[in-house]
Amino acid sequence: MRLTHWIDGRPCGPSSGRWLDVLEPATGNAFGQVAAGDRADVDAAVAAAARAAGPWAELRASERARWLERLADALEQRLDDFAAAESRDAGKPIRLARGIEIPRAVSNFRFFAHAATQFASESHHGEAGLNYTLRSPLGVVAAISPWNLPLYLLTWKIAPALAAGNAVVAKPSEVTPWTATLLGELAADIGLPPGVLNIVHGTGPEAGEPLVTHAQVRAVTFTGSTAVGRRIAGLAAPLLRRTSLELGGKNATIVFADAPWREHIDLIVRSAFQNSGQICLCGSRILVERGILGEFREAFAARAQALRVGDPADEATDLGPLVSQAHFDKVMAAIGRARSEGGRVLCGGQPLPGDGWFVPPTVIEGLGPDCATNREEIFGPVATLQPFDDEPHALALANACDYGLAASVWTRDLGRAHRLAHRLRVGMVWINTWMQRDLRTPFGGVGASGLGREGGLEAMRFFTEPKNIGLSLENCP
Ligand code: NAD
Repeated sequence: MRLTHWIDGRPCGPSSGRWLDVLEPATGNAFGQVAAGDRADVDAAVAAAARAAGPWAELRASERARWLERLADALEQRLDDFAAAESRDAGKPIRLARGIEIPRAVSNFRFFAHAATQFASESHHGEAGLNYTLRSPLGVVAAISPWNLPLYLLTWKIAPALAAGNAVVAKPSEVTPWTATLLGELAADIGLPPGVLNIVHGTGPEAGEPLVTHAQVRAVTFTGSTAVGRRIAGLAAPLLRRTSLELGGKNATIVFADAPWREHIDLIVRSAFQNSGQICLCGSRILVERGILGEFREAFAARAQALRVGDPADEATDLGPLVSQAHFDKVMAAIGRARSEGGRVLCGGQPLPGDGWFVPPTVIEGLGPDCATNREEIFGPVATLQPFDDEPHALALANACDYGLAASVWTRDLGRAHRLAHRLRVGMVWINTWMQRDLRTPFGGVGASGLGREGGLEAMRFFTEPKNIGLSLENCP
């Protein structure tokens, strides 16, 4: 299988003639190849997007909305194919791909189809004449996405960019390129005007950087690691290019003794280990009020151990393999470092024997907030337990980290929950739940977790340029 770019509505091989292997996480074997895009492919894609951008921007919002609805419908009809591809390519359990992630990609298109027709700009009057603000599409925008939720996050960027009237050049992760190619094909199948959505594959340095720095790209929306986010910020800043940076996380799950945690232990466990912990929102630092630590530890570790790790194509599987050899090595090194820092491994900690990059849920305790294990993102099925004594202590532990993406607070005391929600240094807080997403809400983090917000109107604003027009109500003839 050869996964091509989709440029100007057509599949295209790499101009360099080079291809990269695509590996199956469950076996470690190559099952296909993907185009190794470079500057020449990026140039072709941006040129196609620049040709398409004008006519696309001139469509009525309701016409663009209909295109997004058609994409959503076509994707929904092929949900099983996309889910099977995503599961094999990323090693994610088929249940997760079919039940949550591909349906969420469908929702992204539907949601932003509605957003296109509901988006409106402001007018201001009563102070200095009458002012109204226009919001115009930017033109060509770049979307760069990671491997952990390949289609879900790619469409989270593409959908608002298109809804707002831009043409897109998207560069998916070279680790999980399959569903992006399928999306390019789907767009061509439904007759989306050529050049409106272009997919360019390749590595970050070879394809990503030429895209970020291309003279005709007006904005870059990026989701990925903090290190690469910093690199992109550094490239974009001298160009005064608009960026949205959704980066890593090291999220705290705060469990008070009065919380309904026994009833929701499965959700708390899932919040640490869903997709093998390879979700930026996973709670990897579990902070537990000291009085319940013993009982919580036992229940949490037992549930974690009971998760079924195995073949992602099996309907019964809870956790598949990690996505790549490099990521497996990184996660295993982090577990080794936790041991050397003095951490006690309560369960997991060793890879499964055999092929593929399988690591079982791993729970570690005995480490404080200053150790690397509790400060650096691991992005795998690894969670730590830390006890706290009271609300200020819980807050101090939760905020003892450069990352600030999300947190969840478990308590029956809602006054306390809201106090903490106010003081936690993060972009998103869940109270007595996790990853309950309303697509209208601002999504993003603070500190090392990024810059800017996506979602709802935030995304529509990011992808448009405001222009204010003021007129005098007195001087008009
Ligand atoms: P990554 O930063 O290695 O890669 C992300 C994307 O950037 C890929 O498409 C990659 O090819 C590209 N890239 C790499 N170097 C580049 C460069 N120099 N210029 C331009 N593009 C470049 O991240 P990853 O390993 O694919 O994903 C995991 C990371 O993503 C984790 O840190 C995770 O927390 C983060 N993430 C964040 C969110 C969020 O919403 N905040 C969501 C999902 C994942």
